[in-house]
Amino acid sequence: MTPPEESAARDDEMLVHGLAQLVDSRGDVSDPLATVGDAYVWIRNGRFAATGRMRDLPPEAARLLDDPDDPRAFDASGCIALPGLVDSHTHAVFGATRAHEFERRLSGATYGEIAAEGGGILFSVRDLRSRDEDELVALTHPRIAEFARFGVTTVEVKSGYGLTAADELKSLRAIRRLAEDPGLPRLVPTFLGAHAIPPEFASDRAAYVRLVIDEMLPAVATDGLADFCDVFCDEGAFRLDEAEEILTAAARWGLGLKIHAEEFQPLGGAALAARLGAASADHLIAIDPAGIAALAASSTVATLLPGTSLFLKLGRHAPGRALADAGATLAVATDFNPGSSMTQNLPLMVPLACLNLGLTIAEAVRGVTHGGALALARPDLGSLEPGSSGDLTVFDAGDVRDLAYHYGVPRVVLTVRAGRRIWHDASR
Ligand SMILES: [Zn+2]
Repeated sequence: MTPPEESAARDDEMLVHGLAQLVDSRGDVSDPLATVGDAYVWIRNGRFAATGRMRDLPPEAARLLDDPDDPRAFDASGCIALPGLVDSHTHAVFGATRAHEFERRLSGATYGEIAAEGGGILFSVRDLRSRDEDELVALTHPRIAEFARFGVTTVEVKSGYGLTAADELKSLRAIRRLAEDPGLPRLVPTFLGAHAIPPEFASDRAAYVRLVIDEMLPAVATDGLADFCDVFCDEGAFRLDEAEEILTAAARWGLGLKIHAEEFQPLGGAALAARLGAASADHLIAIDPAGIAALAASSTVATLLPGTSLFLKLGRHAPGRALADAGATLAVATDFNPGSSMTQNLPLMVPLACLNLGLTIAEAVRGVTHGGALALARPDLGSLEPGSSGDLTVFDAGDVRDLAYHYGVPRVVLTVRAGRRIWHDASR
């Protein structure tokens, strides 16, 4: 990784030149991606200043090519560039990993069986409660840095393994500290106190909902620790009426809304999200036609997490094709977490979304860029529009279709957050 002091000094301006293809990922979902050949991207003061064909390079930008050793110029011959990738759904703050459970699942144990024995989310809860904030920061830092290697410039990160006021706030403070590091991807914090009913409230779930609403939410909102509030609405987690009560309270505190909806059972979380004006409804594996229609008629983004179906061996996938055909806005994300999707490889979600969920390449690529930005209510991200945040991902690939077709292979050679290199391939 580029040392922060070096990039801070030199990357207030950047010219990525000689691109085989520049891919603009905005636009109507039915359109093919707009691409420009033999292209450049010029970033100044953290924002896109201009993009276009090399032959139209403005003289002010061309001067960065005068000195062949100028680190502000990046030769991207043979590469494609996209707006910086946005991973709009992760649970990146946790302690120990759970490879032991993964191994058991490969031998036939189900996620539900492991959870019923006190494993799963509750394993991560016990583990996180035993650690202090410094430890969480130290454990999470390299996990977030790994996202930059996969071209991700923005990562949404949820709390939700604490499930006490103190432990949820500890998790969100750890996210805040990591968010202050400009050498990492930008972090968007989400409060997920309603991730599971903790064991000490197993016989009085209503009391836990009150704790979330009366103690956790006010503390989170007062300290500005989260942009969003999320609820896991499903069988074995929170009921639809509980989700509505929590999200309605969160909206009163000024938080944006998200919901884990219809991952296993169609409880109506997607329609609730649409009705409450949530930024996104996520998972949607078991969504019914009414839920699809509700999302399609709303501005709530349908967030698809194809890695989770794969990793949990569900054999079922969210109906991405039906959601797209109905006109829903789509995001595609990793769901990075130690139990059900242990990967920061957001580019890998593009072929998975195409092959398993029926998306076109254009839809999947939009899902990890512009769609992810909309799911975070950040229209300044996921776009190459002049004035948008200068977030760029450069892949060693000659054509955008290779992101799905040559699956798992195109390498990220440069990741730029707000005009600053946060990762680059040292061999180039
Ligand atoms: Zn999740």
